[in-house]
Amino acid sequence: MKLKKNALPLIILFLFLLVGGFVFFSSFFDDAEQISLSPERIPVAKKEILFGIPMDPYKTSIYTVSRNESLSAILKKQHVELSRIAEIAEKSMPVFNVRKMSAGNSYTIFKSNTDTSKIAFLVYQPNQVDYIVYDLRDSLKVYAGKKTVDKRVEKVAGVINGSLYETLQEQHASPELAVQLAEIYGWAVNFYRLNAGDWFKIQYEQSYVNGQPIGVGKILSAVFSQNDKEFQAYYFQPDSSKAGEYYDDQGKSLRRSFLKAPLKYSRISSRYSLSRFHPVQMRWKAHFGTDFAAPQGTPIIATGSGVVIESAFSPFNGNYVKIKHNDTYTTQYLHMSRRATKKGQHVSQGQLIGYVGSTGLATGPHVCYRFWKNGKQVDALRQYFPPTEPIESKYLAAFNQHISKQMEILKKLNPDDILSLSPDVFAFYDLRDQRMKHLLPDYLLGINKTEAELPKDYL
Ligand SMILES: [Zn+2]
Repeated sequence: MKLKKNALPLIILFLFLLVGGFVFFSSFFDDAEQISLSPERIPVAKKEILFGIPMDPYKTSIYTVSRNESLSAILKKQHVELSRIAEIAEKSMPVFNVRKMSAGNSYTIFKSNTDTSKIAFLVYQPNQVDYIVYDLRDSLKVYAGKKTVDKRVEKVAGVINGSLYETLQEQHASPELAVQLAEIYGWAVNFYRLNAGDWFKIQYEQSYVNGQPIGVGKILSAVFSQNDKEFQAYYFQPDSSKAGEYYDDQGKSLRRSFLKAPLKYSRISSRYSLSRFHPVQMRWKAHFGTDFAAPQGTPIIATGSGVVIESAFSPFNGNYVKIKHNDTYTTQYLHMSRRATKKGQHVSQGQLIGYVGSTGLATGPHVCYRFWKNGKQVDALRQYFPPTEPIESKYLAAFNQHISKQMEILKKLNPDDILSLSPDVFAFYDLRDQRMKHLLPDYLLGINKTEAELPKDYL
């Protein structure tokens, strides 16, 4: 016992050196590079391999795709002949559609050390994980690759003073976590009515590429306290044939047969009502649906699983989709800019079915969400749905073992502590915050107080 106690710091030190040494050395061999937002040439420090290409014979520069810049424009600038450009675009088609190249993404150009007049490779990165290699040496080759994504478990906790968003921001954690929490606890916590003093603790996956954070993965476990009532959530996948989902500490599912909204990021712009002033028709009439406003093109998801019974266009509804869930329930989604499902198709809860638009009778981009119960249109926000199946008894032992570890870690987290995440994570989210903020629904930002005045029976 005594020996162990003395040995422990040494073991920790050894592990620390081992991991540190690995990180230090691997940085030389990894395809780590500096990603810059500047559109100008930036010389890349020489590394052994980049995008799977041995770097020794090449000089490389990273550029950023500028607005409306196409692959052919990029290649033209590099003095590639027009006939060659056409061949490149054609060969690229099965791997990557060059029209999908978008501004702000980066590409790297490799030129031979001995002949800088020609490009040897062009590598385009549609995101931080995937890349497309255009091998332009003699015979043309186009192929796709992926960088290795490391997932590390991070923890964050906080006491809510203003909004959930602000609290996460204070802790330098991603605002994406607010969206995930709202999804997990959609039926348990009323996010419209958060009070000062409510708190949360979360364990989640953070993804990294070459040591740089690229985004959050899923929440592994969480506790959310609202009005001194604690709600626990544990992600658990019983076996590989079943989808993982969130359960409370008793193994009861937090999921219901329907989601609360057909959009992840949205705000309710008009509720179901028997009488409202119609903004387009300019008269009072019943509104048998719930309107969710969101930017044009926002993905619309099926609130429950079922079969698509209509996917069509009509002058009033615009592009719309109707789903029959069972003999009791049917849902409909109107005014889509584009539909992403066909009649007869089976869809599962959360599956993409179309994109927000303003087709048909609509003033601005939104989804009119309609809900039928036994053939009668009802207010979707006022329906009670029982939780879905709890964990099967044969998985209970594994579940309990899994959550006891998670619980222990959550117990040690103190919501009053400010966690010190690494400066990289800090900078990353500082930047992303700006982009995420306008995507977040008002209730997570705590800025639209009228939504806080929703009826008490909203839940
Ligand atoms: Zn509507």
